[in-house]
Amino acid sequence: MPHTPHPRAPRSRARGGRRVRAAALLASAVSVCLVAASAPPTPLGVGDRLFPHLGNPGYDVAAYDLSFTYSGSNTEPLRAVTTIDARTTADLDRVNLDFAHGKVDSVEVDGEPAGFATAGEDLVITPEDALDEGEWTRITVRHTSDPVYPEDREGGWVRTADGLAMANQADVAHLVFPCNDHPSDKASFTFRVTAPDGLTAVANGLPAGVDRTGGTTTWTYRTAHPMATELAQVSIGRSTVLHRTGPHGLPVRDVVPTEHRAALEPWLAKTPGQIAWMEEKVGRYPFETYGLLMADATTGFELETQTLSLFERELFTEPGYPKWYVESIMVHELAHQWFGNSVGPATWSDLWLNEGHATWYEALYAQETADKPLEARMKAAYGASDGWRAKGGPPAAPKPPTSGSKTGIFRANVYDGAALVLYALRQEIGRPAFERLERAWVTRHRDGTATTADFVRLASETAGRDLGDFFQGWLYGEKTPPMPGHPDWKPTPAPARAGGA
Ligand SMILES: [Zn+2]
Repeated sequence: MPHTPHPRAPRSRARGGRRVRAAALLASAVSVCLVAASAPPTPLGVGDRLFPHLGNPGYDVAAYDLSFTYSGSNTEPLRAVTTIDARTTADLDRVNLDFAHGKVDSVEVDGEPAGFATAGEDLVITPEDALDEGEWTRITVRHTSDPVYPEDREGGWVRTADGLAMANQADVAHLVFPCNDHPSDKASFTFRVTAPDGLTAVANGLPAGVDRTGGTTTWTYRTAHPMATELAQVSIGRSTVLHRTGPHGLPVRDVVPTEHRAALEPWLAKTPGQIAWMEEKVGRYPFETYGLLMADATTGFELETQTLSLFERELFTEPGYPKWYVESIMVHELAHQWFGNSVGPATWSDLWLNEGHATWYEALYAQETADKPLEARMKAAYGASDGWRAKGGPPAAPKPPTSGSKTGIFRANVYDGAALVLYALRQEIGRPAFERLERAWVTRHRDGTATTADFVRLASETAGRDLGDFFQGWLYGEKTPPMPGHPDWKPTPAPARAGGA
């Protein structure tokens, strides 16, 4: 997007302190703007080792207000307005947002038109007045959100048989809406989705209003807890919303294709019991609601979008999947609500904390409810672990995604490879300390983000001794350390190649 000239609007901003200061410093502010305008816009990032251009420095988003208007066709761009309330953490004469794959019509900063340009996958905004550190700013972007993507850069919208769903993890929320697209910047979200009558829209959080006018309905949802952009969910389709009650009166709502409602009900009925099972392990469910979104789409994955996990409907209606397996996957996404969502990763290198824990409770549930021994699964993981580390890196220092790969950073090293680290830890410190650690972890970092170093520190604190060396090998070693209590466990030799080099 080329830099767009814009008319000067009359100045009428109400915010006191900053306006006074801006006026007082008018001369220097003007020169700053001139300097900034002549420098080319540059994509920025927060320095994530795996995704250097994700996120942006200089501000902290407090709230997103996302408004989408859906035409009824999931091959047409949606009209959208994204409003961001942020607090600056540095003086900024430009504000970078992550945004690619949509047309930007206009940008306003604090009610006044602002210049904008595209640089890489950033939308670079030049407000009329530079922003000072420590002030609140409101950025409004009018744009389109296009659910059709090129094959080599699939975005967050998932086109379903009857509409759309969202899957933004890890780095594609900004292909849907302008944002600070890094899990370290959680914010509250309001969604306003307008769709033709006959369609139902659902998003993260709880409903906050339904407005029917002239053939369309606007559905509003709001999150009660802060959320990362990668966990946003918006579902639009010919859906039925089913309501039930979880532990302590927790409202549980599932979103299902209306035509598959009856077939899906026996699976959905299991959720309250699974929540109770998780609560027994780690304590209270951390959010205001939960439920499953059953999408009529072939994604090849399920995703723990906050309060409303995304599942492929076929996982439940294809007879090929064993019942215990499907249920353990349900628990995997549920466990993420604590591990990954409520306690988010500070960087993408901390992904093992999400997937390791989700895999751990998935496997533990299979052991306790379907007689699938955890130890056997961990022994097999031990055998494969060196190979996983060679391929994807050690669990807490994963290799960057290779371009064109669908897997991205979601490799076995951070799933069973990381659950194996938790198993080793339980072997090392004993079950009671391990279970105390798990509860303390989700309590201490609730609604926040945490690093691998935070986990190592809390584990050491809980065990009453320094576990730094233990974790060094298990999290960062090229080779898998010996398993405490199982000296007989060995890496499985790689299968011999059949002929030739
Ligand atoms: Zn997962």
